[in-house]
Amino acid sequence: MTARAELADEACSDLISRGYSRRSLGKVLSLFAAAPALGTALAAPAAAQAATGMVLIGANECWTGPLAPGASAAADAIATGNRYTGSQRDAFAKAVASVEGVPAGHVMAWAGSSDPMARIIVTYCSPTRGLVVADPTFELAESVARYIGVKVAKVPLKADYGHNVKAMLAADPNAGVYYICTPNNPSATLTSLPDVEWLIANKPAGSIVLLDEAYIHFSEARPGAYLAAQGKEVIVLRTFSKLFGMAGMRLGATIARPDLMAKTLRYDGMMASYALPNPSLVCATASLTEAKLIKARRDEMIAVRTKSLLLLDKRGIEHVPSDANFFMVDWKKPAKEVQAAFAKENVAIGRSWPIWPTRSRVTVGSAAEMAAFDAAVVKLNL
Ligand code: PLP
Repeated sequence: MTARAELADEACSDLISRGYSRRSLGKVLSLFAAAPALGTALAAPAAAQAATGMVLIGANECWTGPLAPGASAAADAIATGNRYTGSQRDAFAKAVASVEGVPAGHVMAWAGSSDPMARIIVTYCSPTRGLVVADPTFELAESVARYIGVKVAKVPLKADYGHNVKAMLAADPNAGVYYICTPNNPSATLTSLPDVEWLIANKPAGSIVLLDEAYIHFSEARPGAYLAAQGKEVIVLRTFSKLFGMAGMRLGATIARPDLMAKTLRYDGMMASYALPNPSLVCATASLTEAKLIKARRDEMIAVRTKSLLLLDKRGIEHVPSDANFFMVDWKKPAKEVQAAFAKENVAIGRSWPIWPTRSRVTVGSAAEMAAFDAAVVKLNL
């Protein structure tokens, strides 16, 4: 038997011992290859709209590209694109570690955050250990869990739109993963760190709190990386797809105790972290230490967001308070109809979630893009 076949054999035995049927093994193993495809499926509508010349404020992307030092580092890296990735990965981990105050060994680079999210669900959930998520939230963890037959408990957000951590634990006291997205997509609201700490302290042993901080740079809240540095059973997910304007360049990171991530690499070993484009790695590395530019971009977004939210307030249109580059508007009528009306005005706003059928998610675009949104609100007499 080759080393590869032995690994696959070992993986199958492990899955069967965790309660998977032989029939579901193919699905579970194929997921590692499928994660980028799931990401592509989620991004597809935005790509389709790009060709139409519409104002794209529906997919929570940044309104502009990478920070200047990142773009120039990426351009330089193209000249040495004949070489495999090497020291760039270590430089990235060191830069994240210095900014977040964690050991460099706790940092792993990924092609975005969707891939590690899928691995974490497959690794820590099983037919006997479910997934608990908020409702509404970003659906990738739930989609992966459902695909492999894992039980999913969905717990409504609290009245202040934070995750209801006590109800989440009560919903499944023996879950494998408790997913907390903060700021949450689509509500754009934070969950307090004391609540996250409570969940970590009270969850069952061997389970993971998956702390998705995709939008944390748009908020002024303290990030949760310190929890990983304390050696807790928590995995922090970061992405460069949002404030750093790199959604199409694909770079993300996990911050966690190394043994927690090592478990997710059983099937493809270190291949996962070699499969990274150097231009993206160096772009992210050169960007993440640019504290002044990060703050300037956040401030620019907040100023533009404030202007559109003021217009909504003036017109008596309700919205959820936002700590991110998007906000949820309650039109008090089917959000799908309102989205279609905006589309006729060449403005592609975001979608709604089943639990909030009258609310749309609107991404904060550039000042010019949000002026188009504001004009459409007035023209449509909303
Ligand atoms: N997490 C959240 C909350 C998101 O909204 C997204 C994408 O929109 C992702 C993770 C995945 O992003 P990526 O794979 O580009 O890092």
